[in-house]
Amino acid sequence: MFEKVEAFYRPANVREALRLLHSGKGHARVVAGGTDIVVDGDDSVRFLIDITHAGLSYIRRRGAAWVIGATTTMADLEDSDAIQALAGGLLCRAARSCGSMPVRNLATLGGNMANGSPAADMATPLLVLDAAVVMVDARGRRKLPLAEYLAGVRTARDAKSLLVEIVVPDPPDGKGCRWSFQKLGRTAVDISLVNVSAGLQLDSRRRVKWARIALGSVAPNPMRAPGAEQRMTGRTLDRALLAEIGAAVAREVSPISDARASAEYRREICSVLTRRALEECSTPEGCAL
Ligand SMILES: Cc1cc2nc3c(=O)[nH]c(=O)nc-3n(C[C@H](O)[C@H](O)[C@H](O)COP(=O)(O)OP(=O)(O)OC[C@H]3O[C@@H](n4cnc5c(N)ncnc54)[C@H](O)[C@@H]3O)c2cc1C
Repeated sequence: MFEKVEAFYRPANVREALRLLHSGKGHARVVAGGTDIVVDGDDSVRFLIDITHAGLSYIRRRGAAWVIGATTTMADLEDSDAIQALAGGLLCRAARSCGSMPVRNLATLGGNMANGSPAADMATPLLVLDAAVVMVDARGRRKLPLAEYLAGVRTARDAKSLLVEIVVPDPPDGKGCRWSFQKLGRTAVDISLVNVSAGLQLDSRRRVKWARIALGSVAPNPMRAPGAEQRMTGRTLDRALLAEIGAAVAREVSPISDARASAEYRREICSVLTRRALEECSTPEGCAL
């Protein structure tokens, strides 16, 4: 594991981290909590750049959004009153599901996104919240939608850019939205076989005003299910619609079979967890905003 690493750096700011990343000429790699990269153990890496002292651990209000620094850990998210109050605690709930407590004390939100795993548990709640990421490189800062970032991140592993923060806008439809995070793993501390996040707003007659559904571990990247979202908008949420949306979601995903589960099982679980998520969102007891 990392047998060819020649130097380990701990820059005190983002500018220094970028300089080190450039000087590594493709052989430098960022490390945050280390809980993914150490498992990967890439032999082409010569320089490790620890960004946990680069000033990227924060949860701040900026305009009509919460901004979360890339090295904010899962434990920080769980403990934050602001994140607990955001979208009924959706992000806290997902963070709490990421491995064991020792893992959550190290694992960062930025690392969870930058690692580019289809099973990253923080991706689906951030997708239903319409989150964006802020990247910096030698040319400056740029903000891009999370879905766009996730689509390219695996191929850009050695890119000379840093993910610096995640921007979570206030939920678009304001009060009355309800949220759910559902996860099935082999054990309580394992990564997802499937995870589903949902956001839902119903009117007084249980008609769907606004819907978001995102699924993890069932496609090359965590994904929204726009077909299912559109199908339910404007319709009354009842058992028949829940079953219809469960089936629609199963058609939108493209799971693989691996050591953890077969594609068929994952597809079935997509339906089950989506129905469960929407049911939770539609009850007064569901996590309310
Ligand atoms: C036992 C165990 C259980 C786990 N359980 C779960 C689980 O239930 N759910 C889940 O989602 N994950 C789980 N994980 C995976 C892991 O903990 C998370 O994905 C974690 O959030 C990764 O963050 P990190 O800070 O440790 O990333 P690191 O390992 O430090 O980095 C991961 C990758 O991202 C890059 N990177 C990190 N930060 C940045 C940045 N700011 N900018 C650019 N590139 C960056 C690194 O170069 C590396 O390629 C588990 C891991 C272990 C070991």
